[in-house]
Amino acid sequence: MRDLIDLGVAELAGRIAGGEASAEEAALQALDAIEQGKHLGAFLTVMADSALAQARAIDAKRRHGARLGPLAGVPIAVKDLLCTRGFPTTAGSKILTRADAGRAAADPTRGWRPPYDATVIERLVAADAVLVGKTNLDEFGMGSSNENSAFGVARNPWDPTRTPGGSSGGSAVAVAAGMTPAAIGTDTGGSVRQPAGLCGVVGIKPTYGRVSRNGLIAFASSLDQIGPLARNVSSAARVLGAIAGHDPRDATSATIAVPDYEAACTRDVRGLRLGVPEEYFGPGLDPDVAESVREAIATLQREGCVVRPVELPHTRFGVATYYIIATAEASSNLARFDGVRFGLRLEPPGGGLDGLYGATRDAGFGPEVKRRVLLGTYVLSAGYYDAYYRKAQQVRTLIRRDFDAAFAEVDLIATPIAPTPAFRLGERVADPLSMYLGDVFTLPASLAGIAGLSVPTRPTRAREDRPALPTGLQLLGPPFSEDRLLAVAATWERVSPTHPLRPPSP
Ligand code: GLN
Repeated sequence: MRDLIDLGVAELAGRIAGGEASAEEAALQALDAIEQGKHLGAFLTVMADSALAQARAIDAKRRHGARLGPLAGVPIAVKDLLCTRGFPTTAGSKILTRADAGRAAADPTRGWRPPYDATVIERLVAADAVLVGKTNLDEFGMGSSNENSAFGVARNPWDPTRTPGGSSGGSAVAVAAGMTPAAIGTDTGGSVRQPAGLCGVVGIKPTYGRVSRNGLIAFASSLDQIGPLARNVSSAARVLGAIAGHDPRDATSATIAVPDYEAACTRDVRGLRLGVPEEYFGPGLDPDVAESVREAIATLQREGCVVRPVELPHTRFGVATYYIIATAEASSNLARFDGVRFGLRLEPPGGGLDGLYGATRDAGFGPEVKRRVLLGTYVLSAGYYDAYYRKAQQVRTLIRRDFDAAFAEVDLIATPIAPTPAFRLGERVADPLSMYLGDVFTLPASLAGIAGLSVPTRPTRAREDRPALPTGLQLLGPPFSEDRLLAVAATWERVSPTHPLRPPSP
């Protein structure tokens, strides 16, 4: 039975708050669906006992007459990059696991147990959500396919031989496969939007500063944001409303008030100006993806949006700029994983301090993380700093100005979310550059710190070499325009001939 967890977030919370359904039953359904979908590799930790205890406490609270929060009894999965007090938190890395008999173990149950909850976790709990588990991811969020997890791949429910995208792959799978009505991901350069697009669900990357990063294990601090994934727009909106807002424990968190995102989903979008940048429709874009996205844009035009071209000329520098800035920040952030303070500690006999650092990092970090630490250290090093890091910061400003100029002309921007639908597992592993290039449409918005989301469009048509696969429309708006993006996404969803999407049953 999945009747409860198949509901949208608001509907499920409403039933539980009204006493027509129990949080316990919803949690049981989610735990069962997670068990049924085990082969998809979505979860690193399933919090069965605590989820049931939390759910029963919520039901008891209601029976005693208390008013429940906006996520009353809704089972939610959280990317394992957020700290959960007392529960394994691995960042998808062996370096955050305890050694087993003197060796690094690919075992998330040995994961680091943080002494505190991330602010987003606190807010989910305060809204009466039920945390059912921690989801799989690319190590420290570095990747676009979930293949960089130390604990195995996650698989796309539309075709398990394909990637769900990344780095929030497990969160996208949990939602797309119907294990939880919503999930939390993180987006540094596309890691909520791209897996949402590749799995056929909605994903939001809030404006930098909209959601607190306190308790999020840092990858690239000037880019990292936490955001929700859900099966429809209003569900994602409700979760965003619960986690957004100022937090004194994150110095970059904005003090701007949080609007009613759910109410925004019913707002009239007639007259809104939708910019279409031709830079995002060039060579390399799968023709069926392009067609699907253009169909959605044409539909929005029929619904009253005013569609016009815009220019974002520095788009072509996005990939290079991001992979300098993100690796530089990562090399600095990851210096704290030294074998002394957290997780893994390997001490080769007679190795001294350098031996401890070297052995721990060598066994603890995967190849992509090592590649990025090396790249980042290089671009920051004396003599190269001006040529790479400084230059990248300057180009970042130009990219930001592209968006500023565009938003003087239009209210939001519409693009494809990724150049291709989900690719096969293994297809890009040997060629990191081809993997990086797949991020071309999501990186510029991250560099600019603006708001973005991904909403499913018509899946690509089945052909000889691939089945029908989801793809998505990316909507981008100025800082703190999430409500506007949600209004347009919800309008599209209401008239979309393919909503709601369901992956084929296995
Ligand atoms: N795919 C990008 C990367 O590998 C973005 C990752 C993310 O947003 N966490 O860095």
